[in-house]
Amino acid sequence: MSDSSPEAQFRAALLGLAVGDALGVPVEFQSRAARRLDPVAAMRAYGTHNQPAGTWSDDASLTFCLAQALADGFTVGLTAEYCRRWYYENLWTPHGSVFDIGITTREALNRLQADPDLILAGGTDEYSNGNGALMRILPLAFYQAEAPLAERFQLIREVSAITHGHIRSAVACLLYLEVARHLRAGRPPAAAYAAMREQAPAQLHKLKIPTHETDHFERILSGRLPDVAVTAIDSGGYVLHTLEAALWCLLRHETYAETVLAAVNLGDDTDTTGAVTGGLAGLYYGEAAIPPEWLAVLARRADIEELAARAAAAV
Ligand code: ADP
Ligand code: MG
Repeated sequence: MSDSSPEAQFRAALLGLAVGDALGVPVEFQSRAARRLDPVAAMRAYGTHNQPAGTWSDDASLTFCLAQALADGFTVGLTAEYCRRWYYENLWTPHGSVFDIGITTREALNRLQADPDLILAGGTDEYSNGNGALMRILPLAFYQAEAPLAERFQLIREVSAITHGHIRSAVACLLYLEVARHLRAGRPPAAAYAAMREQAPAQLHKLKIPTHETDHFERILSGRLPDVAVTAIDSGGYVLHTLEAALWCLLRHETYAETVLAAVNLGDDTDTTGAVTGGLAGLYYGEAAIPPEWLAVLARRADIEELAARAAAAV
């Protein structure tokens, strides 16, 4: 990375995530087989959601809501309020309207709208483990990175629980943010993944995460993940699959563009896989590595850059 100041990293992470999201939006819900015949190689327009090229979706919108909460004197309640305002008042939308939302996320935001005192509105059952918290969590990599693990996890858990209250979603967010933390420290993807894996067993034990829960992360924590075949990588809306897919893409490619295109070309939940992958790839490769023609069409690029500067100055 050429410039590793917190502001440059924050910008690269937000831009990288939004570009990955926007690459995936026109082909969301289309299959991997369709992508094999017609791979995404550049920003496309229209398609699934009939949006112009460079349009990002719920993933980037809710990520920006968290970044704005960090910029405005962070609390979990403020984050929840901005998430609610996204859905009900079009806060941080690319062109003034919401065109995509997950079911679990929508149910939680409906609850927030109905009860002004509610903050942790996410469902807590095992099947409420879509990728809707993972896709918006990355700004927390910039908040109190040196705080003790238990404090960081408590915060991750609460920010996740605004929409996703099950422990699996929080653990997925933690492992993702741990990789981000190691990338921020200048470690390349393989070393960041290795450092995360080395520390995770003791961390998860300390956090009293039950074994039947950590077992779900075996493929990630064992180190086998980067060696599995693409046919064993699922790219639907389940948080565990999205985390696996993002790490797999990051670990098997060597440029920002190749990494995010690999994510989008897995098919299915392309915008979210693109966003979750693109955030890490942006963080590691830096803004200068993002193809300028993709940034040139990105919706609200100047606003995103201003947000990153404000958030980085506040944390
Ligand atoms: P969001 O998290 O973005 O609000 P949705 O609730 O619309 O997303 O979608 C969640 C997706 O994740 C669905 O495809 C659902 O089947 C899948 N999912 C959720 N929990 C689990 C689970 N425990 N195991 C497997 N798949 C799950
Ligand atoms: Mg989306």
